Amino acid sequence: MNPGRLQGRVAIITGGARGIGKAIAFKIVQEGALVSLLDILGDLVAQTAEELRAIGGKALGLKADVRQKEKVGQAVQRTLDHFGRMDILVNNAGIVQPALLEDVKEEDWEAVVNTNLKGTLICTRAVLPTMKKNRYGKIINIGSRSSLGKELRTVYSATKAGLIGMTRTWALELAPHNINVNYVGPGPIATELFKASNPEDSPKTRALVNGIPLKRMGEPEDVANLVSFLASDESSFITGQAIFICGGLTVGIAHY
Ligand code: NAP
Repeated sequence: MNPGRLQGRVAIITGGARGIGKAIAFKIVQEGALVSLLDILGDLVAQTAEELRAIGGKALGLKADVRQKEKVGQAVQRTLDHFGRMDILVNNAGIVQPALLEDVKEEDWEAVVNTNLKGTLICTRAVLPTMKKNRYGKIINIGSRSSLGKELRTVYSATKAGLIGMTRTWALELAPHNINVNYVGPGPIATELFKASNPEDSPKTRALVNGIPLKRMGEPEDVANLVSFLASDESSFITGQAIFICGGLTVGIAHY
């Protein structure tokens, strides 16, 4: 593997077993990072870590629920014990429970808020002592274009908009410690899961693509490329920013 811009850096990626988190893991491993994947799906996260090792990467797959402080703390400690350092955190684990405003269930509110917001808080607090001690850190919160509004996303959009506030606040609090905090807001991304339930030529998928100014779905690798840049020293003067990666959807909305 060629030395890349993340050579020797250690990254924790939550929700790294599949989808966007997995693509981020592959990208940053190719850039030289060592990764620890945290996911609620124990078997799958072990398999993904194995796939990364098969391409010559150094990877750990750890079962952990981001809502559980103790389990997250143990996973961070295992990462430190295994790799000896910790530099990058990608808060990627997230869930969505689509529902109309009138139909939002209280248990869905709890699950989505606890995963998307509280989980991000728990994971970030777990890595902070190390990042502060080292006076180095890159935190990337994965939000969504839906933070700007989307039908059937009352709770989800609230959490992803909340993450922007957290990102901006943490950027200010952590700047004196040389820790950068940024937010990446993907638009529709064609993960394997999405492709499985939305065939490329279905009328629903075609209508979705047609509404995107760049006329294509995003790929997990599009998001991974941006995260890799924000995790590197090439972006060291960027902090507290929300960057949408959505084929121009946010601009499209501004026209209406
Ligand atoms: P995904 O395929 O569902 O992958 C997310 C992974 O996180 C899954 O393995 C999931 O397990 C895991 N996870 C869920 N809750 C967890 C918890 N409490 N603790 C640890 N792991 C947990 O999702 P994705 O589409 O790649 O999305 C990744 C991120 O991008 C999310 O934050 C999402 O909101 C955001 N995003 C995605 C899109 C898109 O179009 N795909 C667009 C905008 C934003 P389970 O399967 O058991 O839940």
